[in-house]
Amino acid sequence: MNVRQQELHNRLQIVRQRMAQACAKAGRSKESVTLVAVTKTVEPEVAADLLSLGVTDFGENRPQELWRKTNAVPNGRWHMIGHLQRNKVDKTLPLVALTHSVDSLRLLEAVEAEAVKQNRSADVLLEVNCSGEGAKQGFEADELLALVEKIIQLKQTRIQGLMTMAALTQDPENARPSFIKLRELKQKLAALLAGTPHTLQHLSMGMSGDYEVAIEEGATLIRLGTILVGDLPNP
Ligand SMILES: *Cc1c(COP(=O)(O)O)cnc(C)c1O
Repeated sequence: MNVRQQELHNRLQIVRQRMAQACAKAGRSKESVTLVAVTKTVEPEVAADLLSLGVTDFGENRPQELWRKTNAVPNGRWHMIGHLQRNKVDKTLPLVALTHSVDSLRLLEAVEAEAVKQNRSADVLLEVNCSGEGAKQGFEADELLALVEKIIQLKQTRIQGLMTMAALTQDPENARPSFIKLRELKQKLAALLAGTPHTLQHLSMGMSGDYEVAIEEGATLIRLGTILVGDLPNP
């Protein structure tokens, strides 16, 4: 292993340990949480190194970067986690396992139309603004519950859960109310969609600064960038 791979190995070991501890504290199995490595700040070689160290899932927040990196590391499971413009849906859909960031009805309809056109199914999460910050993307809670009629009509798009970005703060405890809110919202939406193909099994929440709190509150997908790939040594 080169120095970068050694460093990634060490960081992964620490993160996996802390994930396991958070799961134990919450009475959850380790297998119930998937680490999504966010590679937006690094070159595809780093994703390839992580893949060889056992990381299976990768996230990018910009479509063009996603296209480039999926092409370079086709054996990863790729997640779109940032804002997706409607004119980039066609090229993105075939490349991703899951789109976390469906943040408007217009985008949801564009995904559905493209999935029908490409004769494929699209797995998505709905992004929710849980922190109440004006600038954040995503649906408001009451907007989301009002979407049920539209969701029921979807043919090729499956709502697999919800995603949120907590406000950035020093103390991870500050993120807990947002995570609780997302979990409760998911329960409500799942009840309204019971018996449909929309299983809502996922909660995508938790980043480098707050992932343990997110796991305690039920995260099934955590999105980690800085803590894994920030300031890496050159190999
Ligand atoms: C960058 C990014 C992350 C990772 O954030 P870190 O704090 O670096 O772990 C997670 N989710 C989204 C949507 C991001 O854009």
